[in-house]
Amino acid sequence: MKRFLIAGNWKMNKTTAEAVQFAEELKAQNLPNPEDVAIMAPFTQLQALKDAFAGTGISVGAENVHYERSGAFTGEISVDMLKEIGVEYCVIGHSERRQYFNETDEAVNRKIKVLLEEGIIPILCVGESLETREAGQEQLFVSQQITADFEGLSAADAAKVVIAYEPVWAIGTGKTASPDQAEEMCAFIRGMIEGLYDAETADQMIIQYGGSMKPANARDLLSKKDINGGLIGGASLKVKDFTEIAKIAAELK
Ligand code: PEP
Repeated sequence: MKRFLIAGNWKMNKTTAEAVQFAEELKAQNLPNPEDVAIMAPFTQLQALKDAFAGTGISVGAENVHYERSGAFTGEISVDMLKEIGVEYCVIGHSERRQYFNETDEAVNRKIKVLLEEGIIPILCVGESLETREAGQEQLFVSQQITADFEGLSAADAAKVVIAYEPVWAIGTGKTASPDQAEEMCAFIRGMIEGLYDAETADQMIIQYGGSMKPANARDLLSKKDINGGLIGGASLKVKDFTEIAKIAAELK
């Protein structure tokens, strides 16, 4: 049976009241595979979402974490704070964080390690810019990101990480990578993990596609062999669109 993770990434959207309303509406959809569904939300909404989704199987994740355990890091959130809320996932290395907040591969690597120490699953975003793709360097670029981001991880830990392949040129632009382009890179990533670790680790890994996924293109993307779901920005803000994508994944399982 194919493994799926359909994860919404709300970014800096929705108040807590709006988040709770979304959660109530999503629960009313009776999703066929709620354990394959998660919402990544701003810190202030995590507790309310955990409460709202309690007992449903739907998971909750953060959109960032600091790699230090505690200390003088004004404005930051530690892994223990996330653990206390009970979130299951945390997005790491999103292109918006790499671009606007200078999140380096070294920081990403440290964040992955601290999350895994506390049993929170990192959703690691990788992906190339349009310039890099047009130069034909996308596989080299993504392989460099993954090599740096996985530095020092054991096979057992690596298998727990979710990788989201998100070509930067397809995020929030309405441009989607074609299913073949997305599959080619997800298969490349799986092959890379096999090379760094072994076939078992590569087979276990959930590799998502992200970049303007919506109900109209989800079936073609999610049908691909090496695509185990989506990290979904814009379409995850609407219950109807997000539900449709989750139902498509359930049909393909
Ligand atoms: C994302 O936020 O990771 C994303 C893929 O956004 P969108 O679906 O809006 O392109």
